[in-house]
Amino acid sequence: MNVILEEEKRYFIWVIFMGKSIATPSSKIKLRKRVGIPKGLIYYHYPELFRIFFEELGAEVIFSKDSSHTLLLEALQYASDEECFSCKIFLGHIKDLTEKVDYLFLPKFHGTHKSEVNCPKFIGLPDVIRAVFEDLPQLLVPYHSRTKKKHRSLHLIWSAFTVGYKITKNPIKITRAIIRAVKAQKKYEEQIKWNEEQLHAWELDTKSQSGLEKIKIVLLGHAYVLHDPILSFDIPQRLREMGVELITSEEMPSSIIEKQLKKLHSYLYFKEERCIVGSALYFLENETIDGILQLIPYPCGPTAISSEIIMRYAKKKEKIPLIQLMVDDNTGEAGLVTRLEAFVNTMKRKKLLQLQELHKHKNLVIKQIHKVDTVELMIVKSTSIEEEGTMK
Ligand code: SF4
Repeated sequence: MNVILEEEKRYFIWVIFMGKSIATPSSKIKLRKRVGIPKGLIYYHYPELFRIFFEELGAEVIFSKDSSHTLLLEALQYASDEECFSCKIFLGHIKDLTEKVDYLFLPKFHGTHKSEVNCPKFIGLPDVIRAVFEDLPQLLVPYHSRTKKKHRSLHLIWSAFTVGYKITKNPIKITRAIIRAVKAQKKYEEQIKWNEEQLHAWELDTKSQSGLEKIKIVLLGHAYVLHDPILSFDIPQRLREMGVELITSEEMPSSIIEKQLKKLHSYLYFKEERCIVGSALYFLENETIDGILQLIPYPCGPTAISSEIIMRYAKKKEKIPLIQLMVDDNTGEAGLVTRLEAFVNTMKRKKLLQLQELHKHKNLVIKQIHKVDTVELMIVKSTSIEEEGTMK
């Protein structure tokens, strides 16, 4: 706001001294095309790519509000019962943007790999949105699927140009926007993905700074579910508050995931499910964490496959407890939290027994420390052998 006022001041000084009248800076600002990006589904795969691309083109980028219970209630007025939870809430994001923007960006991105794809719903959703909403702003719907023979890298660039031309006719500006957006996205992915060294260091780090034994889990789920406070029921945050350290399937190093997936008997085509299954197999094999939690939006075809594969492998490796939580708009928060707490307490209890077993011949005490909502474990030195294994 201050920037605009400052520019207005400079404009009036210019008019007084030069006696010329030009468009005011604020009127120029109003002329900027407003592009709406719904914060759901594909957005969470390419957040920086989309934002930087449109900003570099000179558009004003408007994101939909963060998901909330109000937004979900709004979404449910438009969604059919058969839709998955993630697609239902997406309609609430569309509704939030319809009156605020000139363009709505809804890419049909089936994937940039010739044998790995996103969920087919990513392709069909723009048509559903056209059918459900009246008075939509102009839709920007580039379609790209590397699985199609004609959709090579040039096709992706051509798609970016067709979208870019809606905002500016300057090809240099569009080229620059593409380059900067790709760079920003790469940087984002580097930040979010752990490398193998980071992962191994995390696995070996078993104690917190205060000497408490850490409880670690891998949280499996689609990026757009884990990042969304309503779809995920805030589970990542709740786990951290219970003293649990976690890595998500989205953060797992790609090299490790690919190595694990080679062990499957058939090729897994869904990109997100590859991350989920690869992460689960790695930890089931290495047993460097205390539990596996998979978050499943209902009803979801691709996750029906991944959850089944994980369950079968987990049955063979019973040391690591697995919980698969299904969520939809009818899920009761209290019930879900109770299951989560029970799971965390099971892991802590198991760890306590393991530690007691490990240290039974040493002069050590395993203490169970109760915090507000959590229970944590600590090994402390003892002077009396009778105290061994006591819990507080
Ligand atoms: S993968 Fe599942 S949750 Fe995601 S859009 Fe497809 S059906 Fe919905």
